[in-house]
Amino acid sequence: MDLDLPNTEDAQPRPLSILIIGGGIGGLSAAISLRQNGHHVMDKSNLSSDSGAALHLCPNASGILHRWGINAQNFGPSFMSRYIERAQDGRTLKDVDLAESNARWPYPWQMVHRASFHQELKRVAASGEGGGVPVALLPKHRVIDVDPQLGATLEDGKLVPADVILGADGIYSRTRQVIKTLPLFRTGKAAFRFVLPKSMAESDPTTAPLIIPKDTFTLWFADDRRVVMYPCHNNEWLNFVCIHPDTESRTAPTDEWNKESSLDQVLHVFRDFDPQLLALFTKANAATIKVWQLLDMDTLPTWTSGKFALMGDAAHPCLPYQAQGGAQAIEDAAALAAVLPLGTTPAEVPERLKLYETIRSKRAFRIQEYSRLTGQDWVDGQPVVGMREFEEYNFDHDEIANATAAFKEWMMAKQQQTPAATPPIAAEPSTGLERR
Ligand SMILES: Cc1cc2nc3c(=O)[nH]c(=O)nc-3n(C[C@H](O)[C@H](O)[C@H](O)COP(=O)(O)OP(=O)(O)OC[C@H]3O[C@@H](n4cnc5c(N)ncnc54)[C@H](O)[C@@H]3O)c2cc1C
Repeated sequence: MDLDLPNTEDAQPRPLSILIIGGGIGGLSAAISLRQNGHHVMDKSNLSSDSGAALHLCPNASGILHRWGINAQNFGPSFMSRYIERAQDGRTLKDVDLAESNARWPYPWQMVHRASFHQELKRVAASGEGGGVPVALLPKHRVIDVDPQLGATLEDGKLVPADVILGADGIYSRTRQVIKTLPLFRTGKAAFRFVLPKSMAESDPTTAPLIIPKDTFTLWFADDRRVVMYPCHNNEWLNFVCIHPDTESRTAPTDEWNKESSLDQVLHVFRDFDPQLLALFTKANAATIKVWQLLDMDTLPTWTSGKFALMGDAAHPCLPYQAQGGAQAIEDAAALAAVLPLGTTPAEVPERLKLYETIRSKRAFRIQEYSRLTGQDWVDGQPVVGMREFEEYNFDHDEIANATAAFKEWMMAKQQQTPAATPPIAAEPSTGLERR
């Protein structure tokens, strides 16, 4: 599809043509933020829906979504109100009411069903909500090559030119090769993922005590494996992430994120856990149980080349232990919008993308590192680093405000260096600092 760009001689600033490769959390978030800036956005993806069961939208992500006009009530959030840690035999190690600590964050800590969330991102991207031209969402368009000076080539050989090209194609990114070919490597862990209806657990007196009260996040720990359970979809579903040594579920690196697994396999890997929890597992729809290998990657030397930039898991894949991978992709999208206001010219794009990387890389790499630390096996029945250890750093961050301030500062410094040659700031991106 060719973009219908307005005449460049119009008095109005010319929107950039932006091509996003990948329609996951990162790609759709960038599509929303950049079209709300007034740019013309196409999103080409080879998948129409996000995979996996549920995810946390931590306060740092919730705040950005809120200011883009994305209302969590449309996709049935559960709220993280209580945190329980148990030993593998079911003994309670910690039971924390989060009401007081959550009051520190200006936006809520939510747990949502992935498919519903993804559906809402697609709906908002394809709408005009919040301003701008609806995004051209083109699922089933696999990109096979990127020329960072020109555009991207699709499977049918067609070259799609653009002013900005974003590689948002996830951990198995193909577009990453534009920067560097980096192998993914095993972390030694894999995760079973599945959901089950909460009502089934509630109606069984054996399992009911495990899921009361509502809005509770529970972790069962053994030294080298753990089970995470939390509600989603208006508290109607329970989501499970069961992390274990990957050798026990015989996963292998694959270009598919998720592979079929079975209830027998889950019950076998967690056979030494509390029988109440195993009884809960048996209520899952066995056909929906999948297993993910948890992979990692070395740090890329850069995320950008010419008019091309990587974002989300393609740039900085995040292990799930801090529940921040999707949030970091959302923060990338917020920063991209801050450095690419309407009025940015195609010639300015490469330096703006470099600025985006400067703004984002330190924080994204640090959160990757925190996640690695949190995922370490327990030693002598104690965590090396607790799951809630880095909350302050993770949650108390406003990437819209941060990137907007960094962009302003950068523009001022640039103007001071070359006062005659540098145009004034074209359009002030909205800080949207209004709160709930
Ligand atoms: C077990 C587990 C639990 C997690 N829990 C959380 C959590 O609670 N909170 C959180 O914030 N994050 C969580 N994450 C991380 C989060 O899921 C990812 O970080 C996030 O999905 C990354 O988004 P993305 O858009 O970068 O990539 P993806 O979601 O992987 O999207 C990439 C998209 O690109 C498409 N694509 C791939 N190749 C091509 C191509 N050649 N051409 C066109 N399209 C292509 C794919 O089909 C896909 O649609 C978890 C991850 C795991 C594994």
